[in-house]
Amino acid sequence: MNKGFKNILAVSTIIICGSLYILGNNEIAINNTRYKGMEISLNDKTNVVEEGNGLLLVNSKLGLDTKYKPKDLEIPNIPFANESQTEERQVTKIVVKPLEDLINSAKAEEIILLGNSAYRSYDLQKRIYKDSVKAYGKKYTEDYVAKAGFSEHQTGLAIDITNEHRYFVKGTNEADWLEKNCYKFGFIIRYPEGKNDITGIAYEPWHIRYVGEQVATYIHNKGITLEEYLEEQ
Ligand SMILES: [Zn+2]
Repeated sequence: MNKGFKNILAVSTIIICGSLYILGNNEIAINNTRYKGMEISLNDKTNVVEEGNGLLLVNSKLGLDTKYKPKDLEIPNIPFANESQTEERQVTKIVVKPLEDLINSAKAEEIILLGNSAYRSYDLQKRIYKDSVKAYGKKYTEDYVAKAGFSEHQTGLAIDITNEHRYFVKGTNEADWLEKNCYKFGFIIRYPEGKNDITGIAYEPWHIRYVGEQVATYIHNKGITLEEYLEEQ
């Protein structure tokens, strides 16, 4: 793989996440309001990760307040990609142990997984969006980068995983292991293959979201998305 391509991959992995929300270019006021025909709601910030209806759903229609920040962010004891910034190494407390268990279990099977990007503040996501427009243009950014306030990374419940080659795609040992095993630790592949009509986001084998073991197992066994799960409740 040449260096340019590697760089593109690295940057793409950073900016893609929680993404593909095609929301237009204007600044969005995040309130219980309508934007370009879509209902945009403010999530109930007190229900972060309860099993069932209280599961926090963030997608192109459900945004978070600009000031929303989980109050119990911690850096888990896992290996991170060198380029990962300190802020984005944090997850909410409830995710720390399951994430450490997941990474350690993979390692026991000689699968080396690295944390890449977890919590991102509204401001960091905004910066990432701006940088992407500068580097890759408006069209690419609209297709691949979440607007600030509409990224699941702002919840602290999601993390992008990568591998030593920064090439985390289907068919690599690392991505396949994650897909097969993450539910055992309470995580789901949040944007599965072939479900972008429901999630609004293309397949992202690296982006996992904590929902708790019970819900993760159910979602895994049925091959559904978080949106579909919540619809059933
Ligand atoms: Zn992501």
